[in-house]
Amino acid sequence: MELRRVDVVVIGAGQAGLSTGYHLQRVGLRPPGTPTATGRFVVLDDSPGPGGAWQHRWPSLTMAHAHAIHDLPGLPRLVGDPDEPASVGVARYFAEHEELFGLEVRRPVRVRSVRDLGGRDGLLAVETDDGEWLTRAVVNATGTWQKPFWPAYPGQQSFRGRQLHTHDFRSAAELAGAHVVVVGAGTSGVQLLLQIAEVATTTWVTRRPPQWTRRPFDPEWGRDVVARVDARTRAGLVPLSVVAETGLPLTPEYQAGIEAGVLVARPMFDRIVPDGVEWLTGRVPTGDEHVPADVILWATGFRPALDHLAPLHLRAPGGGIVMRGTEVAADPRIQLVGYGPSASTIGANRAGREAVRNLRRLLGL
Ligand code: FAD
Repeated sequence: MELRRVDVVVIGAGQAGLSTGYHLQRVGLRPPGTPTATGRFVVLDDSPGPGGAWQHRWPSLTMAHAHAIHDLPGLPRLVGDPDEPASVGVARYFAEHEELFGLEVRRPVRVRSVRDLGGRDGLLAVETDDGEWLTRAVVNATGTWQKPFWPAYPGQQSFRGRQLHTHDFRSAAELAGAHVVVVGAGTSGVQLLLQIAEVATTTWVTRRPPQWTRRPFDPEWGRDVVARVDARTRAGLVPLSVVAETGLPLTPEYQAGIEAGVLVARPMFDRIVPDGVEWLTGRVPTGDEHVPADVILWATGFRPALDHLAPLHLRAPGGGIVMRGTEVAADPRIQLVGYGPSASTIGANRAGREAVRNLRRLLGL
């Protein structure tokens, strides 16, 4: 019978979890069953294979369409075929990283809850669908993919057409010939609109006007954006997505979409009716208040997947968790990586390093 007691449990094997695993290895921690004088860690992941959330993304999200996938620490990514789906290319790269650094990710293992055992030894119990682990610390790297955000609008249940979220989108071909209302001003909304508009008619609606920007994304701006998101998480507010802070880069492709009338947004509708969506009188030009629709695509983003941490009662009144960098202010045994300012591939890399530095100090490793 395996002794399921470790110093650190890492939950999730996306960019943030793999970066954490890499840095834990570097300071001498090893997976269970491997000799070590320093300590042990285990990485648990509930997806079927390597790749984190990337393995689940729609096939037309190619390597060329992903913004910028930063290399994982210790392994430069070879420039591959730009037309390869990111779900395939990134999964292969992550598998190579796991193998090279002996991370021994256990999958599919779903973490159901993390509880404080309340003893003097400060142990936490990590309950999974494959038994329990006892640990001194948890690095949570569960991303957002499993928490698609669906806003509520009047009449939503009455709609006779199809409603789907970005999370469930597979291909534009499925929507051919339909009239599709796309909701959301983020990158996914814009990219999916352009694809769908090739085979269907579309209406784009956004809560706030799209924030187009011509500013090149340079390091100074990057630092600025991270600082703003960081300020929110320090205050215990729900983190905003990085795109909400940066705006949408006005690429030639997006410019062409605007000129073609596809990327021209209407304000958010007021209600959903059985055959479409509607605006109240005066909010749109007279005669445009009703748009018939076959499909509503909610490109409305994701929230951090943290339900399994509920028994620890970490949430602040602002709806987020009060953070000091990657450390949960109220309980430094819990590190959140890929959360708030580190919810990007480059941020996830840095967060893994920072979390390990914090835990070395905390656990005396
Ligand atoms: P994930 O990659 O989501 O990994 C989390 C892992 O945790 C998954 O493997 C999941 O199975 C596992 N998990 C979750 N819950 C549990 C549980 N309870 N028990 C066990 N395992 C669990 N960022 C960029 O920098 N560049 C981009 O081009 C880019 N494109 C994006 C496109 C889309 C559509 C979206 C939604 C996001 C994009 N991002 C991009 C942001 C991106 O999500 C992050 O940059 C990064 O990939 C997230 O890594 P992660 O390790 O935090 O999470």
